Amino acid sequence: MEYSKIFDRKSFSTVIPESVNDDLKKVLIREDGQEDLLFALWAPSIGENRYTAVINEIIFPEDGDRNIHGNASYNYQYLLRVCKIALKKGMGIALLHSHPYPGWQNMSFDDINTENKTFINAFSTTELPFVGLTVGNDGYWSSRVWYYHKEEIQMKWSNSVRISGDRLQVYFNDNLIPPDKPSKKTIRTVNVWGEETHKNISRLRIGIVGLGSVGSVVAEMLARMGISSFTLIDYDTIKEHNLDRLAGAFKTDIGSLKVDVIREHILKAGTSNKITVDISDKKLNEEEAYRKALDCDIVFSCVDKPWGRYILNHIAFSHLIPIIDGGILIEFGDKRKLNFADWTVHTISPGKPCLQCLNAFNISDVELEKDGLLEDPEYLSGLPDNHYLKSRENISPFSYNLASLEVLHFMALVANVVDPSNYGEQKFRFKHGFLSRNFDINCDSNCDYLLNIGMAGSVN
Ligand SMILES: [Zn+2]
Ligand SMILES: [Zn+2]
Repeated sequence: MEYSKIFDRKSFSTVIPESVNDDLKKVLIREDGQEDLLFALWAPSIGENRYTAVINEIIFPEDGDRNIHGNASYNYQYLLRVCKIALKKGMGIALLHSHPYPGWQNMSFDDINTENKTFINAFSTTELPFVGLTVGNDGYWSSRVWYYHKEEIQMKWSNSVRISGDRLQVYFNDNLIPPDKPSKKTIRTVNVWGEETHKNISRLRIGIVGLGSVGSVVAEMLARMGISSFTLIDYDTIKEHNLDRLAGAFKTDIGSLKVDVIREHILKAGTSNKITVDISDKKLNEEEAYRKALDCDIVFSCVDKPWGRYILNHIAFSHLIPIIDGGILIEFGDKRKLNFADWTVHTISPGKPCLQCLNAFNISDVELEKDGLLEDPEYLSGLPDNHYLKSRENISPFSYNLASLEVLHFMALVANVVDPSNYGEQKFRFKHGFLSRNFDINCDSNCDYLLNIGMAGSVN
């Protein structure tokens, strides 16, 4: 039972697609104030330090499946039906119920008995842990996971329940992740969005993949804003030609790993009282870096190659971790005349178009990168001089502007101060000096990513 070893040292979280959450609340939060319940299916998303139950399908109750009285209860036929579907689909089982009070919910004796019994049935069918969730009448979710460890039944509370869609809403367990104490250092920042919003934003775990001229600036901005948990992923070292654009990197850092240097910079620049920075110096297609990305609540995609984007696109839809992605495209014509310099930013989450349908990467370029051709001088020298795969020109104001736009997208996603929450795809055109928004791109109807929302799993 590999997962019982996993649970001993990993934290637990639950994530729900926003559209599923809307349907759940319609059944569970009743106008008559009565408690109600239903079952759902989930898939495991296994990060390096966090195990997440990704809720992906509601199994709605049918007539006679449940009793609605003081404490709602289900009849055995309902669980049996759910077990059959879960077994067929290879999914875990979750029982969700409501309480007529607001906020994070503890369990009553009845709740503990019911979940304990349900775990035994659910486990014997699925051989997966069992997940219990409770929603307050204000929509605040709490959750826990039941599993066997050392032949005893164990229950572990989740750190958070996340709702991922147009916005990212996170319901934290204050006992396990207490909010940062207010401090003078962030007083001007907190004045922008208020203490409640700051309490939530500052507790998010933010991943940054790629710590070049964009990622290093994103890191500095978030550290100064009061973010306390970072995961940095980059395999590269600092070269002399990075020094014109890398925030927090100096001549003495040449030869050091970017993740080490930016971690030190975050610790120096950060305003939170308790900053933790987890790092990986591996590529995102390697197990360690991929698992660490799955620990995050949001990931900034600051990569300059297609394979990383391809993997992050999968993470946004299958694991419900929103991705904020940006890229700079510069093209020169004859006599090194600047044709254009554009940078584009988009937030990727269920309900918005995916990176592939946005043309943020070409699937054929992903294959080239997998074959090692994008780092092969011979292959690159065969491409035309102004080919986008060869573009190496950049200046710090381009990158810093893109980094700032990415952090504004982050604010739209998590802070309730922006309307609309969805900026669409934004593109800044340096040559003409304007910022455009595009809402007209949608995923193709047969886009694979739409079919895999909440299915977790790995990517090839
Ligand atoms: Zn209850
Ligand atoms: Zn798509």
